[in-house]
Amino acid sequence: MLNADLHCHSTVSDGTLTPEALASRARANGVELWALTDHDEIGGQQRALEAARAEGMKYLTGTEISVTFAGQTVHIVGLGFDHRNAALLEGLRRTRGGRGERAQEMSEGLAKVGIHGAYEGALKYVGNPELISRTHFARFLVEAGVCKDTPEVFRKYLTEGKPGFVPHRWARLQEAVQWIVQADGLAIIAHPARYGFTPNEEYALFSEFKAHGGRGVEVVTGSHSAQEAVRYAETALEFGLAASRGSDFHSPDESHTDLGALPFLPGQLTPVWELLADRIQ
Ligand code: AMP
Ligand code: MN
Ligand code: MN
Ligand code: MN
Repeated sequence: MLNADLHCHSTVSDGTLTPEALASRARANGVELWALTDHDEIGGQQRALEAARAEGMKYLTGTEISVTFAGQTVHIVGLGFDHRNAALLEGLRRTRGGRGERAQEMSEGLAKVGIHGAYEGALKYVGNPELISRTHFARFLVEAGVCKDTPEVFRKYLTEGKPGFVPHRWARLQEAVQWIVQADGLAIIAHPARYGFTPNEEYALFSEFKAHGGRGVEVVTGSHSAQEAVRYAETALEFGLAASRGSDFHSPDESHTDLGALPFLPGQLTPVWELLADRIQ
């Protein structure tokens, strides 16, 4: 089967490698079809496409859109769209909009528990000023010696109910799917096992996603266990969705799953790249 890695992040969002460095790393790891999927941002797509070409790797355009559904944050990956599409660019720009203020509020929350200068500290790690994220705060808190690694920072400071957490309203599910679809792309539910949904809420997510024109779900991802992959392979079949595969690689120092280093998709599923054959560059 094709070694496709269709989910990772560069310095254009919250990854630590440039699109070019990611392309080389992916190629060295045997990736044959690659997509860079920065959060709420497609400013790295042209660079990624050119880097993939230089490495002799096939490429699909990509992004990962932040959505609020049933009070929780859900991520929708888009693949194979026209990265010059005006409505998609505008939707992503709006989705990025509130990140600066949110970051200031996160910093105020952290200051209340004695962690000062977190906003300025996080900014040192930011590659794209419109894309300050919790990941950048996590890197600063590790640097400051507050926690030993980024998962510990999220556990203690950056998740619901913790001092640095600020609730935020992202795009609506329908908007995100439509931005992708009208730009000729394919919408995919990212890492479904990571959401804390009840079975009813999860059913609502999958059925509404399909009704809006969503076509795929990540089955094999760096953030799924083997059992979770089996579970969402069944969900893909139940809802008639194609299956995607991606490491969600962010950084050599932080990510457990390297680019391309993933199990293959279970055999009975339709890989998303079969639906995107004419979009592969
Ligand atoms: P944001 O979009 O600012 O809310 O940041 C979300 C990002 O934080 C995700 O894309 C991950 O890169 C990272 N993240 C979320 N939860 C965790 C966690 N428990 N451990 C490490 N990183 C996480
Ligand atoms: Mn991320
Ligand atoms: Mn995600
Ligand atoms: Mn991701």
